[in-house]
Amino acid sequence: MKTTRRNFLKLGGATAGAALVPRLSTAAPVANPKAVAEPAREIPVAGEADVVVCGAGPAGVAAALAAARQGASTILLEVHGCLGGVWTAGALSWILDHQNKPGFMREILRRLAEQEGRTLSRQQIPSNAYDVEVMKLVLEDLCTEAGVQIHLHTRVCAVVRDPQNRVTAVITESKSGREAMHGKIFIDATGDGDVAAQAGCKYDLGHPETGQTQPMSLMALLTGINAEEIAAFFRDDDATDWAKPKDALRVDMERGGHSPSYAKPSLFRVRDSLFALMANHEYGVRGHDARDVTRATLHARKELHQLINGLRKLAGPWKNVRIVATGAQIGVREARRIHGRYRVTEEDLREGRLHQDAVCRVTFGIDVHATDSKKEKGIEKPAFRSKAYDIPVRALIAKDVSGLMMAGRCISGDFLAHSSYRVTGNAVAMGEAAGRVAAVAAATKRLPQEVKVNEWKG
Ligand SMILES: Cc1cc2nc3c(=O)[nH]c(=O)nc-3n(C[C@H](O)[C@H](O)[C@H](O)COP(=O)(O)OP(=O)(O)OC[C@H]3O[C@@H](n4cnc5c(N)ncnc54)[C@H](O)[C@@H]3O)c2cc1C
Repeated sequence: MKTTRRNFLKLGGATAGAALVPRLSTAAPVANPKAVAEPAREIPVAGEADVVVCGAGPAGVAAALAAARQGASTILLEVHGCLGGVWTAGALSWILDHQNKPGFMREILRRLAEQEGRTLSRQQIPSNAYDVEVMKLVLEDLCTEAGVQIHLHTRVCAVVRDPQNRVTAVITESKSGREAMHGKIFIDATGDGDVAAQAGCKYDLGHPETGQTQPMSLMALLTGINAEEIAAFFRDDDATDWAKPKDALRVDMERGGHSPSYAKPSLFRVRDSLFALMANHEYGVRGHDARDVTRATLHARKELHQLINGLRKLAGPWKNVRIVATGAQIGVREARRIHGRYRVTEEDLREGRLHQDAVCRVTFGIDVHATDSKKEKGIEKPAFRSKAYDIPVRALIAKDVSGLMMAGRCISGDFLAHSSYRVTGNAVAMGEAAGRVAAVAAATKRLPQEVKVNEWKG
């Protein structure tokens, strides 16, 4: 886009020249000696679209795809160098609650299978596991084919609202500097709810009593092991007892000299001799605090190497085990839960509440990774067994500002409900619905809450 005086976005009242470089005004003196004042400046508008999706995890990719396929011009902003979020940058390798999801989830699984990116279980049944590198390519192909404008290595760092409290632009930071992206409807799919928080939306965080969030985990991809030789240590989809292999793995890790911080270490077979490992818990850290995330990442990576080096010393089936990759991003299970026009609660799970404006039916149960390592280092015992329940589209529409939707783990819900709906089969379905609603709203100059169910469903 050509940069002219017209497509500079005024922030903080600076006056612009027709220069190509944003002109800065002089910083005002600040009272706090430990603070600096950022000079007011004009930001070049680098993009404009009907729908702007922030964050390209499972939810964001699905949202962008849905919007673009509905004919909306669509921008997708992602801070990492690939699409997929926890699926790829997080090296997850395992998809939950996808079985009852039609639409994009099925399409993604089909495309993965066509490119030999989907594992077969020992009984040759398609597994929940997938190849992270194939997933990256599948998501890029899908978005490119749909005409989504992808911006990688681009972080959303601020939000612009008009006097009516409607989001009109997001500000990004990248190698190209600070830029603005104009849109009609915005979708916060950052997982952590960054955009909604920047827009001033209220949110909940952590356990209602302690404020603690579930621990983070850094995933690792392993090679040098043979499925037959380590059959006692990993879970296959058709395995009947999932606890036994985890306990066996923990015992071997302890024999190797290190007790894992996650008491239920899990191996997933991706293909041949490639496995994914989740063996680490980082407690007492918050996903929206860069220092916490850094500390957790450094600590987790060290632990994973200790664990694998210890296993290798045991020789036997572990003699050649190696880490081939750890996630570029530590897995953050939960961060902000943005207030929406509906809040999914534990009562919904208890009663199995269904909604006419449902975006998906969640069948995955309550899954709280222990927040207090002094009491428990595994999974907390669920207070009750949840029933299948619906997520209504209202939980995807921000309450405190206009023109903003959420998709994925940052939607509106309580601590317990979040532990169930956050898995990726649901994140994709949420994104798909959000993208459709946003496209209709943008095309008809309405807000998401004004779009009727029959206009986006079906
Ligand atoms: C360790 C771990 C294990 C899990 N196990 C499973 C499992 O086995 N199966 C399963 O289905 N689910 C699992 N989950 C849950 C699931 O992975 C997440 O809840 C899911 O990825 C949520 O999708 P999302 O798109 O909302 O968020 P994310 O996958 O977190 O994606 C958010 C995206 O937004 C980007 N982003 C964030 N902030 C910004 C910003 N300011 N600007 C631009 N981009 C930004 C991120 O880089 C990322 O790509 C697990 C999660 C963790 C952490």
